[in-house]
Amino acid sequence: MTIKILPPQLANQIAAGEVVERPASVIKELVENSLDAGATKVDIEIDKGGSKLIKIQDNGSGIEKDQLGLALSRHATSKLASLDDLDAILSFGFRGEALASISSVSRLTFTSRTASQTEAWQAYAEGSEMAVTVIPAAHPVGSTVEAVDLFFNTPARRRFLKSDKTEFTHIDEWLKRIALVRRDIHFTLKHNGKMVRNYRAANTQNQYLQRLAQVSGKQFAEHALAVDCEHNGLKLSGYIQSPYFDASSSDTQYFYVNGRLVRDRLVNHAVRQAFAEQLQGVQVGYVLMLELDPHQVDVNVHPAKHEVRFHESRYVHDFILQALQSALSQAEQLPLNAHQP
Ligand code: ADP
Ligand code: MG
Repeated sequence: MTIKILPPQLANQIAAGEVVERPASVIKELVENSLDAGATKVDIEIDKGGSKLIKIQDNGSGIEKDQLGLALSRHATSKLASLDDLDAILSFGFRGEALASISSVSRLTFTSRTASQTEAWQAYAEGSEMAVTVIPAAHPVGSTVEAVDLFFNTPARRRFLKSDKTEFTHIDEWLKRIALVRRDIHFTLKHNGKMVRNYRAANTQNQYLQRLAQVSGKQFAEHALAVDCEHNGLKLSGYIQSPYFDASSSDTQYFYVNGRLVRDRLVNHAVRQAFAEQLQGVQVGYVLMLELDPHQVDVNVHPAKHEVRFHESRYVHDFILQALQSALSQAEQLPLNAHQP
């Protein structure tokens, strides 16, 4: 038996199995990169549910010409320098795998210009050695990443793609999740040449409620109760569907911890307990954001899972419960107050 080192493209394709499952996961990685780069506008364009084309344009910082090649290599990241950083990670990316993985299973080009450069550059990785070619290009400050023909060289994976419509639904659902929490970003989504989503930046509560209506429907947005509670370094804000108007079930149930969506047992338990008295088994909608010192929570459990680990879990649980109970009890009093002169 001979032991061999895997050629770079094959190593990247294997790694891609973890990061790149379908077009929606490519979009997730690329848009998160745009957000990490400080973009305020992100335009997403897809053809055929993303299997033909995925194109993300942002107005972020861009990458210097001599860094472009590195950005496409595996384990190359500008976001994590030491193990200490891993404890308090705030950016989305930190593994330096996404671009290398995506470029190993699609025809990927990365075009970018920084504010200090007068011209833009475009990079693409080629062949089994993944050598990066850089050529001059035209582009405003920011980046455009284009991934064409996803899984063209991994037919087994390509066969696993579902219909364009299903892949689109996954992308749309992911966009909702990020649009609800990143209200400061203007997102657009074009499918087969047609603009299908346009979430403008929401700088005021009113604009945010409009976005909530766009994403989660008018019903929820019109009767949403604001949650805004801060205590001892914990802050919970967002909206819950008022159970006093129309307690119909809603699948808008999003809970974010420091900007990341989580599906966490402890969190779910606290939310359900808060609603338990008011509602008999009805699943009301909520969009809630918990913020706390990043040292108090571990998020780097697994990139695809949405679990977190709170250091003081009991305390966090009770804080969420009380914050929601108090939002609900204030809503309960509203109709009474309205009768007073
Ligand atoms: P990670 O995000 O984990 O660092 P990626 O492979 O996703 O790894 O990206 C590699 C590097 O390329 C990033 O660390 C960042 O420096 C750079 N990069 C990627 N996308 C962008 C972008 N849209 N704008 C600016 N820089 C980017
Ligand atoms: Mg990344």
